[in-house]
Amino acid sequence: MTNLTVFSCDLCGSAEASEIPEARHYTGGHPLHVCRSCGFVFVRQRRSAEAIAASWSNDLFGAKYTARIPAVVARQTFVAEMLDQAVSLAGKSVCDIGAGEGSFLEMIRDGRYGADVFGIEPSPGNGKLMAGMGIPHHVGTIETYMASDSKRRFDVAAIMWTLENCQDCLGMLRSAAEMLKPGGHVVVSTGSRILVPFKKPLHYYLGTNEPDTHAFRFSANSLKRALLLSGFTPRHINRFIDHDVLCIIAEKSHEPLIPDTLPSDDPDAVLDFFARWHHETQEFFRLA
Ligand SMILES: [Zn+2]
Repeated sequence: MTNLTVFSCDLCGSAEASEIPEARHYTGGHPLHVCRSCGFVFVRQRRSAEAIAASWSNDLFGAKYTARIPAVVARQTFVAEMLDQAVSLAGKSVCDIGAGEGSFLEMIRDGRYGADVFGIEPSPGNGKLMAGMGIPHHVGTIETYMASDSKRRFDVAAIMWTLENCQDCLGMLRSAAEMLKPGGHVVVSTGSRILVPFKKPLHYYLGTNEPDTHAFRFSANSLKRALLLSGFTPRHINRFIDHDVLCIIAEKSHEPLIPDTLPSDDPDAVLDFFARWHHETQEFFRLA
């Protein structure tokens, strides 16, 4: 029997949310909600962080998934270049939270980047791969790493295609802030960006995996809001409108939060966005 917890909005605490009615067509009947207060899109019912990490390790990664394909190497290269131009990676200590097979760390350690790398990764199989590449790592979640005695401090934390897949997005970002040295940076990249032109049919975006393995769908505003709430100041953002990726580099900061100025999205605009995407997808199949 799975224990599910019902979550309020992660980014403003509101318990009021509207279901996105079209989502059920694509998720196998699982609901997806938009916060009525700040417009954040999230899955309300979630299992424990460990159960979600285990789903990723056992069911969704492993034999079925590899990062060593051109599309993934391309997006990792994009993040490496953006990060290097923003903070200069040479000699910097970098922790990849959700390091997968270690391919991003290998990329920024070797060649011209010259970073000092470390990976946190729940999959023991991926841990073995990193060991084989000589990459120091922790097999577990960000939560178990932060509870361990051996935790280090880093110049850069990387959260790539991972923040949308954890149970507690602010918890993950706050742990990233805690593990950084003063003035350190986090880079967050996600393909789950919304409020942009549709780049694919909706069923490629929403799937029938356990819904809490993909609990968050970020817009530029909601990702900025999450970073600001976690002790970061966003410094660099890519041109996400016509790119597959939304990528923000933010600096650990202690600038005071001004709640009324936090970015948010109009919940009705978000509902309309999914309604239009659904319509577009149906038209695509009608014409195909
Ligand atoms: Zn909210």
